[in-house]
Amino acid sequence: MEESAFMLNPGPASASSRTLGALATPITYQNDPFFVEHFHRAERRVAEILETQQDVVLMQGECMLGLEAAARSLVSPGMVCLNLVSGIYGKGMGAWLRSFGAQVIEIEVPFNDAIDPAEVQRVLDERSEVRLVTVVHSETPCGTLTPVQEIGPIARAHDALTLVDAASTLGGLPLHPDEWKLDICVGASQKCLGAPVGISIMTVSDEAWDAIRQNPQAPRASILSLIDWKELWIEQGRFPLAPSISDMYGVDAACGEVLEIGVAEYFARHERAARACRAGVKAMGLELFARSEAIASPCVTAIALPDSVNDLQLCGHVRSRYGVVLGDSEGAGNIVRIGHMGVTARSFYPLVGLSAVGRGLLDLGVDVSLGDGLEAATMAIGELALEIA
Ligand SMILES: *Cc1c(COP(=O)(O)O)cnc(C)c1O
Repeated sequence: MEESAFMLNPGPASASSRTLGALATPITYQNDPFFVEHFHRAERRVAEILETQQDVVLMQGECMLGLEAAARSLVSPGMVCLNLVSGIYGKGMGAWLRSFGAQVIEIEVPFNDAIDPAEVQRVLDERSEVRLVTVVHSETPCGTLTPVQEIGPIARAHDALTLVDAASTLGGLPLHPDEWKLDICVGASQKCLGAPVGISIMTVSDEAWDAIRQNPQAPRASILSLIDWKELWIEQGRFPLAPSISDMYGVDAACGEVLEIGVAEYFARHERAARACRAGVKAMGLELFARSEAIASPCVTAIALPDSVNDLQLCGHVRSRYGVVLGDSEGAGNIVRIGHMGVTARSFYPLVGLSAVGRGLLDLGVDVSLGDGLEAATMAIGELALEIA
């Protein structure tokens, strides 16, 4: 099969030409000063995007590795954890926490909803023994956003650490670990940054390092060890293992591009693309999966599908007939998703996604107002571009 013409799936996202070019940098020995310099620069660039003084840890492995490493490092048997569930990744975290021996309390909402910080406050007021709060910033399969900026300070006030799955949000929308009092954030390289798949981009607070040091169960001498990164790399400048050299050049280049565009403008692109896309969805006569626009994520738009068509059928159809890759639901419901990540948050990319969804549904016998949807999205892109310029 020919490669796709447009990747509108919510990650892995398309990489810019500059990032692709950086991937062709010659592979070097990890302790060579040239690589060490680039590695440090990538760390500094991540810190600048996140406005953080915390340690930045770039672990080699898709961000599921970073999430598992963080959870294993923080959790000890019997520890009481509050896991917030608004979708598939939150559910998965709960299963992990239990398997690592934690006592897990959950706040769970329907997958089209987001977590209410007032509810977190209520549970933490009642259960002072909670030591860790785990939360997903954007539930990418559902297209929803939870206000972690409100949850971080609530957890800190209750002496609980926070572990945030920021896989799909890091780099594409505001995420400020210091100001928001978040102890470990884990992001993915391949989503809003548009870097290659394969690097877990993490921030770790001093409070989290203290807790990890005191946890006898925290992995050591392991690819999942955060404390090895702290003690060997951050404190002594020695890599615990050979990092993914090429992927790291990609992350460095992608972050450099974000900073050159300007972090505020880069975030604004994601917001603008998502707003235009939502306007198009509604004008087409379709419904957003998210309960309200107020909780809709800027990095992905999830659209509820009518019963007569399922997500895999629609995605398969538009990929084979039109060369467009859309996101299926990953099991969250009968949902199709359009990503707004990095390159695809630019220009008229949302229109390609909407065209694929609308034309695909018409082909499959669903009546949609394709023209109205495309017009609404085009008008929104024009107006929002002016507003932000
Ligand atoms: C992408 C993503 C991950 C990583 O999952 P993959 O299946 O490896 O892509 C984890 N959490 C969230 C919220 C994500 O969007």
